Amino acid sequence: MSNTIPKTPVPVAPETPRIPIMMDALVLTGPSAFEVRKEPVPIPGPDEVLCKIRGVAICGSDPEIVRGDLIGYWPPAFPFIAGHEWSGEIVAVGRDVSTFKVGDRVAGEAHKGCGFCTRCLEGRYNLCQNYAKHETGHRHYGFINNGAYAQYNAYSIKAIKHIPDHVSFREAALVDTAGVTAHSMDQTGITMGGTVAVIGPGPIGMIAMRLARVLGAAKVIAVGRNPRLESAKGSADALVDFSKHDPVEMVRAMTGGAGVDEVFECSGAKGTFNQAVRMVRRGGRIGLLGVPKKDVIEELPFAYMVANEISVYGSKANPHVSERIISLISSGKLVLKDLVTHCFPLEEFGTALETFVGRKDSVMKVVIEPNGPEV
Ligand SMILES: [Zn+2]
Ligand SMILES: [Zn+2]
Repeated sequence: MSNTIPKTPVPVAPETPRIPIMMDALVLTGPSAFEVRKEPVPIPGPDEVLCKIRGVAICGSDPEIVRGDLIGYWPPAFPFIAGHEWSGEIVAVGRDVSTFKVGDRVAGEAHKGCGFCTRCLEGRYNLCQNYAKHETGHRHYGFINNGAYAQYNAYSIKAIKHIPDHVSFREAALVDTAGVTAHSMDQTGITMGGTVAVIGPGPIGMIAMRLARVLGAAKVIAVGRNPRLESAKGSADALVDFSKHDPVEMVRAMTGGAGVDEVFECSGAKGTFNQAVRMVRRGGRIGLLGVPKKDVIEELPFAYMVANEISVYGSKANPHVSERIISLISSGKLVLKDLVTHCFPLEEFGTALETFVGRKDSVMKVVIEPNGPEV
């Protein structure tokens, strides 16, 4: 027996595909002005990886960012590269990265907290107290920091999760969106065998309906209006068209007058928060996922909410859910791929955005593929 210390295996540098110096990027140059142009490929820092972006889904917040509605905040200034719902593969790793390697398939999260503020230490990095302070290490990719509408981007390893080979890049581009619904359901819980109402049958609402079923809801009621409401048929057990009926009365009638166990507000429209309060049961819970415009103020039945112990959870982004969402997708229990209705190359971003914003051609989710489709 030798008593020598076992030799540490010498790491073998993985074969790295050639990384170009310049890349195609969709650069926002001013309000509603953008172009695809050459930009330098970012160099990953010590705890970052360089990702080749394979799919990036257009988010409901992207049109506002493109229009410059939120300039000074999202993004801080033009020029800017947006895009935060993405999937891709690692092509280079930083000095201190040991848990990811070149060739790994990953999906991204937009938020990366500073890691040391009180909220980050609680695990609530979506509420980082050093938001937008670059020097603290905080990142919000695609909002404050450059994002994924480009062929490459560098990401902290805190903001990426592995995806298995059999999950397509297109479907994995929806991990971020799906995570938003998962975070809300982590907050509210889902009553096993209960009834859930989802207001707003857009992409987030559709995923909320499906996830509520996976989590044990026996009945899911979709509240919306046509033509989008129709597309919720396979994801919900009952549809309520608010343009034809009082949604509160209908939902109450469907639950024998008691109200639903949980309501998920996914539209951000005026009046829907109030409806949610009135359609949930005594002791019920409401998840607010839809992002209302700043001037939307709701009048709420204060005394009623106190007397009936109605719990309301504001919900922002998707902390601690991506791995579970990927597992659900990977196992086939949560199917998202049919929600990707349109795919475009980066050069056709303008058409892609018009399709998404104009809700053309029964669109649900649009995925941009800066490096071409997966083969
Ligand atoms: Zn998003
Ligand atoms: Zn923080």
